[in-house]
Amino acid sequence: MIKKMAKLSDAIISFQENTLHCPSCDGVYLHQGRVEVFNRAEDADEGTHVVDTDTVQADRNLAGNPSNRRQGLKMNFFCETCHADVWLLIYQHKGNTFVRMEYQDSEN
Ligand SMILES: [Zn+2]
Repeated sequence: MIKKMAKLSDAIISFQENTLHCPSCDGVYLHQGRVEVFNRAEDADEGTHVVDTDTVQADRNLAGNPSNRRQGLKMNFFCETCHADVWLLIYQHKGNTFVRMEYQDSEN
């Protein structure tokens, strides 16, 4: 996965809203998919992991949490323009909350 900053703009088609850009091609046609929520007490080995696709699944496994110590959120997108597989990550480490995007090119 390639890591990039999340980019928001008030691009032309945004209906007065900020638009999330694809980290691969800078396009603005991102389709939302799977959402994963990780919740736990600080440094806990397990917590609540909820996955929402067509159905909702819940377990106590925190594998894949973007935060090593706290809460995390992952949202998956498909880029209509370049077909990249994109993740938006929001996660806490100590007192900070970070936002990052990762993507896999459609050719890889
Ligand atoms: Zn793209």
